[in-house]
Amino acid sequence: MEILFGGVRGTTPRAESRFAIYGGHTTCLLVTGAGGERLMLDAGSGVHVANAALEAVSGLDLLVLFTHLHLDHILGLPLLTTLFDAEARVELASVSNDNEGPCRAFERLLDPPLWPLGLDALPATVTYSSVPPGKLTQTEPVLRQGNLEIRGCAVPHPNGCTGWRVDEPSTGASFVFATDMEWSAAGPKHREAFLATCRDADLLIMDGHFTAAELPDRTGWGHSSHDECVAVAQEAGVRRLLITHHAPDNDDVLLADLDRELNASWSGASLARQGDTVILNEALREGRNSL
Ligand SMILES: [Zn+2]
Ligand SMILES: [Zn+2]
Repeated sequence: MEILFGGVRGTTPRAESRFAIYGGHTTCLLVTGAGGERLMLDAGSGVHVANAALEAVSGLDLLVLFTHLHLDHILGLPLLTTLFDAEARVELASVSNDNEGPCRAFERLLDPPLWPLGLDALPATVTYSSVPPGKLTQTEPVLRQGNLEIRGCAVPHPNGCTGWRVDEPSTGASFVFATDMEWSAAGPKHREAFLATCRDADLLIMDGHFTAAELPDRTGWGHSSHDECVAVAQEAGVRRLLITHHAPDNDDVLLADLDRELNASWSGASLARQGDTVILNEALREGRNSL
């Protein structure tokens, strides 16, 4: 299983050169399974980076799974290249009690005067699926994409958010994507469920929007700190940690300092960078390569 980091910036894109190394695009991951299956997690402006990998493929069957529908996680959707391929099928999925809420959000995003082209004017076949919150468990997959099994866990964030775990039984690869989560707001049940979701995964990709020093003044903002990410990763027994959703004002100089501190605190931890590709395989599991 391969993961392309299309965007790792939180809240809003940044295009200035001082954000070029860690990247200014907002959240988007493109996952490619061993069987060639494609899964996109969130569709922030990092869709542009994912598009480069998708453009050559026609007739794609793409599942776009959302952690939640805040603007920084959906704003790249109107320019997803697969939506312009008449042979392609795109399924948009999120956690909701019904299709109505997510559909309305996407229709509002792709509707004049906010955007010139509605979803039904796009050539691809687009479908919606909702995962009822009550169906999220650590045992049964709630969605599948080819050979990829997807499980989820509710995480604390304003308006709600879901952490997704993706397993590939044919290779044993697994990772958890938990962007936009306020770990300090999680009660004991939430914590237990999330740690069970992460247990023994190859990789945890977690929201570390704030530094430990910033966090006390940001209660209720819906995000975690780098220190919390390391504590969660170690408690859950994951092999590697990549921290994402970098604060929009944290430029490359600051992030490089934070990255060094982070790596000194635990060699398995780094800050995620836009454009990086991570391959989850045996070598990673045995500690023979690093991220
Ligand atoms: Zn966000
Ligand atoms: Zn959010």
